Amino acid sequence: MTTPDPATAAFVDETIAKYRKYISPGLANLMDFVGFHGVEWRGEGMSVYDSQGQAYLDFLGGYGVFALGHAHPKVVAAVQAQAARLPMSSRVLFNRPAADLAERLAALAPGNLQYTFFCNSGTEAVEGALKLARLATGKTEIIGTVGGFHGKTYGGLSASGREVYRAPFAPLLPDFSHVPFNDVAAVAAAITPRTAAVIVEPVQGENGVIVPDDDYLPGLRKLCDDTGVLLILDEVQTGFGRTGTMFACERWGIAPDIMAIAKALGGGVMPIGAFMGTPAVWKVFEPNPLLHSSTFGGNELACAAALATLDVIEEENLPARAAVMGTRLLSGIRAVAEKYPGTITEVRGLGLLVGVEFTDRDIAALVIAGFAQQQIFAAYTLNNPCVIRLEPPLIVGDAEIDRVLTAFDTAVEGVLDLLA
Ligand code: PLP
Repeated sequence: MTTPDPATAAFVDETIAKYRKYISPGLANLMDFVGFHGVEWRGEGMSVYDSQGQAYLDFLGGYGVFALGHAHPKVVAAVQAQAARLPMSSRVLFNRPAADLAERLAALAPGNLQYTFFCNSGTEAVEGALKLARLATGKTEIIGTVGGFHGKTYGGLSASGREVYRAPFAPLLPDFSHVPFNDVAAVAAAITPRTAAVIVEPVQGENGVIVPDDDYLPGLRKLCDDTGVLLILDEVQTGFGRTGTMFACERWGIAPDIMAIAKALGGGVMPIGAFMGTPAVWKVFEPNPLLHSSTFGGNELACAAALATLDVIEEENLPARAAVMGTRLLSGIRAVAEKYPGTITEVRGLGLLVGVEFTDRDIAALVIAGFAQQQIFAAYTLNNPCVIRLEPPLIVGDAEIDRVLTAFDTAVEGVLDLLA
């Protein structure tokens, strides 16, 4: 069987047919429905090109992965050099990129998060964070938040707070409870003598970009200190500049005992996740450092990508850039939204994590399709389909924001005309 020329429609059709037959018919239908009928082929900066040469402006940023844009040359070069020399760890000798990366992260992270364990994804980072919290305290109960998202393995899912993803897989892990986000009193009421930790995202991403009140995280930190409960921050989506500071919690001047990170850390070139902890919690790993382990975690390729990523984030001052461009995007979207008060209920965000809440999830889906028609990537948030998220790479420029503001107006107007 010969493969059709990638530049032809036959190549696209064949790819979608393979999805239907070998990956997931439902996913194939969903992707087609949204209107992205193409095969990704090449990425550069703010753009993804399909196999037929069509350019798309990426305002989804791989759910936070593409902070540096696509295929950043410095990260690609670092990975290529490492791949040619030693891509994967022998697991016998010491791994220098892992040691360098752990040192860099310790210097960058808030508070006293001196130690790092490397893994391969956000949900694995959360798994490790939860295990460490139980181990360090000898207690079992974990308090999460309603609408919180921490991944889809059993620990991450148990900590997450949306029934539609949880119920089909019950029973989940025992001793997890969920309280409303942005409510310190609710956490206080849920704490018992068996509580090991509270886990929260500093800004709830998948729940529709919910930015807490300024006293929430400081209040949680104080509550945890007063009660001897550990504070786990999930910065998987918010970390590495997304919200305008290197880590979102810096905005509120607090630091966790354990922090989960992933997504942007690999620079959009390699998958990598990690959880970090203070010396006080990490000492429980001392008697048996193999209590928690990962075959691929901390491999040289991923660490080389992450080291180059941190260089780029610092050289290009991306957190500060996200703050400036985020303000521009947020106020621009708000100005457009004012034209549609019966359709858009709220626009909110921090840095370059912006959510637009619609009165109806179908309208939100049609607006995403409207963006697709204008070759712009956007998506809804996983735990709240009424909210469209705009999460472009942190390298986004004024012209691209202007294009998206016009496209947003066109898309909403088009949907309202359609429904009229
Ligand atoms: N935690 C948060 C806050 C996330 O946003 C996500 C993914 O969106 C995860 C954890 C899970 O990460 P992954 O999909 O890499 O497992």
